[in-house]
Amino acid sequence: TFPKRIALLGSTGSIGRQTLDVVRRFPEHFRVVAIAARSNVDLLVQQVQEFQPDLVTCFADTPEVEAKARALLPQALIGEQGLLAVATHGDADIVVAATSGLVGLMPTLAAIGAGKTIALANKETLVMAGHLVTQAAQRVGVPIYPIDSEHSAIWQCLRGEETNSIHRLLLTASGGPFRSTPLEELKSVTVKQALAHPTWSMGPKITIDSATLMNKALEVIESHWLFGVPYEKMEVVVHPESIIHSMVEFIDGSVKMQASLPSMHLPIMNALAYPERLDAAQTDFIRELRWADVASLHFESLDLERFPCFHLAVEAGKRGGTYPCVLVGADEEAVELFLAGKISYLEIAQLIEAALERHQSIEQPNVAATLDACSWARRTVRELWKKRA
Ligand code: NDP
Ligand code: MG
Repeated sequence: TFPKRIALLGSTGSIGRQTLDVVRRFPEHFRVVAIAARSNVDLLVQQVQEFQPDLVTCFADTPEVEAKARALLPQALIGEQGLLAVATHGDADIVVAATSGLVGLMPTLAAIGAGKTIALANKETLVMAGHLVTQAAQRVGVPIYPIDSEHSAIWQCLRGEETNSIHRLLLTASGGPFRSTPLEELKSVTVKQALAHPTWSMGPKITIDSATLMNKALEVIESHWLFGVPYEKMEVVVHPESIIHSMVEFIDGSVKMQASLPSMHLPIMNALAYPERLDAAQTDFIRELRWADVASLHFESLDLERFPCFHLAVEAGKRGGTYPCVLVGADEEAVELFLAGKISYLEIAQLIEAALERHQSIEQPNVAATLDACSWARRTVRELWKKRA
């Protein structure tokens, strides 16, 4: 039932901005009641003027940001409590979790506790704490709708189907910018090359994760939790055009797939409007898929030697315990070091592997142990890097 009232975590990011694009085009359907951002005060000011949320919060990671936020947004809640306040806002029906990285976990759990429907973009949350998040959601009876394009595709393919009819989930991967780069050239690829994704425009962290295929492995782990499907029943197919966003193969041999031009607006629209669908004609951002223009679609199998992060990450997911937390923390730190020009592209996988090897996992970690394992991994990667440098 519309209008739905939205609380948006990470309004100034790539997913956050696209969420607001959708709200702008469907004013009868949605109202933004609360928003949270970290450092982009200028954009936050514009968003507040346009969408007039009842609650605006800014994490403010530096004193300069804090001073600016206090001057330009005197009504804003500044500091750490912002995400939690937005996630549990009394008027919100649905919480869009679109912050990057680890900070999404606590507010997502709080939103579930407050009975909110979750529209989840932040994959780290499910990867690190899939058992905590899914158990909490089941206990309270709140649904988690995926925003990631692959999961949105699978979610759409599974409508009206029984879980025991699933033979396999087939996640598609574009293969990123280095799909066919000669292996010996991977040593020397630059940050700029890694940031040039062939089909998707996204935030920097996830773009690097797409180049290493860490992103796809995180999506495999996420699918395990979202759809309750075991790892043996998941496969990744490289599909460079990013038109088929994922597929489900059923036990009778039938395969369903979801197709559209690459756009994050569509999965956002799906998650916000479910069970209804919104009319793309009302937007200027959903382009019609003209099959004649597509001409051909390609599929190939994944080259594990080229993408060492993929195997490392899926294994960490399968082992469970605190390994997935270490994976997420180590990857965040390694990608930051790479983006800052401090390590080479191939060292990303090496540092993550070294951190996983040194880790002593805990079974069934609680929230504190989850976050501890993440920070341990970040520290460990930093120390390993310093020793090398
Ligand atoms: P961005 O880096 O573009 O945006 C992150 C957002 O989170 C920004 O609004 C940022 O604020 C905010 N933020 C970060 N830390 C805090 C904090 N402590 N308190 C409040 N706000 C904070 O990321 P993306 O939008 O690309 O990705 C978001 C999530 O969605 C990630 O987990 C990613 O993996 C996932 N995802 C993204 C896709 C995409 O196409 N971009 C596709 C599928 C999944 P500010 O900018 O003000 O600092
Ligand atoms: Mg994706």
